Amino acid sequence: MEQSSLIKPVLGGAYPTISHGQGVFLYDKNGKDYLDASSGAVTANIGHGVQEIIEAMVKQAKQVSFVYRSQFTSDAAEKLAGKIAELTKGGLTYSFFVNSGSEATETALKIAIQHWQEKGKPKKQKIISRWMSYHGITMGALSMSGHPIRRERFTPLLESYPSVSPPYCYRCPLQLDQHTCGMACASELEASIRRIGSENIAAFIAEPVIGAAGGAIVPPDGYFQKLKKICEENDILFIADEVMTGFGRTGKMLASEYWDVEPDIVTLGKGMSGGYTPIAAAVMTKNVMEPMMKGSKSIIGGHTLSANPLSCAVSLAVLEYVERNELVEKSADRGNYLIRGLKKLAGKYSFIGDIRGKGLLIGVEFVLDKATKDPFPKDADVTNQIIELGMRNGILLYPAAAGLDGVTGAAIIISPPLTISEEDCAELLMRVDIT
Ligand code: PLP
Repeated sequence: MEQSSLIKPVLGGAYPTISHGQGVFLYDKNGKDYLDASSGAVTANIGHGVQEIIEAMVKQAKQVSFVYRSQFTSDAAEKLAGKIAELTKGGLTYSFFVNSGSEATETALKIAIQHWQEKGKPKKQKIISRWMSYHGITMGALSMSGHPIRRERFTPLLESYPSVSPPYCYRCPLQLDQHTCGMACASELEASIRRIGSENIAAFIAEPVIGAAGGAIVPPDGYFQKLKKICEENDILFIADEVMTGFGRTGKMLASEYWDVEPDIVTLGKGMSGGYTPIAAAVMTKNVMEPMMKGSKSIIGGHTLSANPLSCAVSLAVLEYVERNELVEKSADRGNYLIRGLKKLAGKYSFIGDIRGKGLLIGVEFVLDKATKDPFPKDADVTNQIIELGMRNGILLYPAAAGLDGVTGAAIIISPPLTISEEDCAELLMRVDIT
């Protein structure tokens, strides 16, 4: 009989076996330590091995781990919904729990469509999205994602394509000057709406800071205000995908707060449980929910493990930990410290083209030549080489696709746990200097 094998991201690739984690460090079975400068996939927001989370997990498991959401609610799920409403401050008061960011996107898309159906506008079904975006790997979420490498094999199954250019000012997709462009990329939303007809559009979805598809791309001030205004004028819901940016990652509880833009629907995941358990959410305003509450009184969505008490209790403990330890503020502070350090480092290397980001979501883009911003050739595989060098040097970095086609740019994300101390930030800067 053939030996069984766990399928790994690179088939047949060599992966160290993890032994344990503590704080911002992970340790493999050979005793090698890794500074988790990526929080895994921008997820381990409070670091590893936090005792009070483990205690909350055990306490809930002793009571009950799973009940089916259409038979019972639980204190854990109710309290978590309350905590999310409190932390996100504005009108985001209705939570629907799922198990991954991709499911959160699927849920948000469906709720947006159902919202209009129940308001008597069943033609409003299309969702507009941007290039250089990632909203998840399931088919609906992938349809929205402007991430060519992840899309290309599945095109026959993908229902729609993004139609709006991203605010990628470092290498403007419209080849305009940032100071005189009038945010033409945001105006493309208007052009798309005119082409498709607002009577056919349910929502527009975007990441406030572009993550995996670009490497922490921060839009210029005024950009999201402009998009939100266009959505309002055209009766289109605005979905903010804060799966990566939510719960303090960028130095605000939600990244949308930077521009005072309140989404109609927000999607959350990753840091929501800090990786201690799978959980994610689509969170809606009352305005979005009202037609369903008055109408069919149900949401067509959900998964078997949605709102399971164990994940909800763990997520609640994580969010309370974030609040009590003022990790949102710390994220902003440590982010500034790291960006300063990385910019100093960039002076040493001609291939570091751009350093950007907010809080502890930091992107580094690599180029052949700083002056021309010429990208490395695709087959140079620079991102993966840097990630591998990092691994050898005991630092975990997260790969990002940069470049509009998802291949002509090379970038990484640096996103350590929000709990990182200044001393460990200094260690990070030493380990990231990989040459
Ligand atoms: N949305 C964003 C912005 C993400 O970064 C990701 C994952 O990287 C997702 C959605 C999908 O989340 P998941 O991998 O948990 O399905």
